[in-house]
Amino acid sequence: EDTIGKIAAGEVIERPASVVKELVENALDAGARSVRVEIRAGGRELIRVSDDGHGIPAEELPLAIQRHATSKVTRFDDLARLTSYGFRGEALASIAAVAELRIVSRPPDSPHAASLVSRNGRVEPPTTVPAAPGTTVTVRDLFAHVPARRAFLRQDHTEAAYVQRVVQACALAAPEVRFELVSDGRTVLATDGSGDLGNTIVGVFGPDIAAEMVPIVPPADDEHDPERPAVTVSGYVGLPTLTRGNRQHIILLVNRRWIESRSLTFALEQAYHSLIMVGRFPVAVLHITVAPERLDVNVHPTKREVRFSDERLVFAAIQRAVRGTLTQHTP
Ligand code: ADP
Ligand code: MG
Repeated sequence: EDTIGKIAAGEVIERPASVVKELVENALDAGARSVRVEIRAGGRELIRVSDDGHGIPAEELPLAIQRHATSKVTRFDDLARLTSYGFRGEALASIAAVAELRIVSRPPDSPHAASLVSRNGRVEPPTTVPAAPGTTVTVRDLFAHVPARRAFLRQDHTEAAYVQRVVQACALAAPEVRFELVSDGRTVLATDGSGDLGNTIVGVFGPDIAAEMVPIVPPADDEHDPERPAVTVSGYVGLPTLTRGNRQHIILLVNRRWIESRSLTFALEQAYHSLIMVGRFPVAVLHITVAPERLDVNVHPTKREVRFSDERLVFAAIQRAVRGTLTQHTP
């Protein structure tokens, strides 16, 4: 069982950034308005995610770390209309299989918090502790007992960069939530939770980059277009003068989920064709919305890949939006 747990965990938990992504998504699912992420040594030593969400009642705490325990899907057909990030009930169980896990949680109407610790897959009896309402999950010594996984981790600063990208994407996906990321004691990201994407970009990428980004101008609405509002693209793009040596500053969000897509990244880059040098990459934060029935997010356990029923439509919408915006800003 321990071995099976570790193998299954490997599918979801590949590196510190995967832990952070799962914990932050749980915080957002719990309705958090504020999420604080702390890591040490790229997340290998410590990952801590604190939120002010609805918490976990003490009696449900042991259940939360059991495999396939989820409070989020009640009927099978709910999966099609999924609005929460989580639904498999696998994340906490997977993390517990490969690290020391401590959860301290207090629902707002509860007088105190309950704490649960799991070490090497062994769960200690819950205790009562003082804490503010919300949930804090602390993960220590990730992969300490999984040498194969540990060997595969990169240097701390590289793992920290992966974590930063996850938190950046989550913060940009949810501008109404305040995010903070502290890495080895240094604040590397802080957003204001104002709900304004422009402000959020300042908090995520810093004021210098944000100053060279412009909001996407919505393309003229064609009321005769039968596909109208099938796909919309909003967000911010960097001016052609703002380029990077890699694609770290390209964030694609589909229905508020961060996705990785070669073809949609290519659509974006093509819109900059001849405006920026070969080997340089644009900066962009794109919020793409498509009708949920045109989307299949359930492709891989980590949900980073999505399939569209008609990807060409999304591809074209990105190009139209970005080209239209850039023409208004280039002489
Ligand atoms: P899933 O998110 O797929 O339901 P997880 O293993 O990530 O599965 O979490 C298990 C359960 O623990 C969740 O369904 C939820 O009830 C509870 N939970 C986890 N994290 C939090 C949190 N930060 N706030 C409130 N409840 C949480
Ligand atoms: Mg989850």
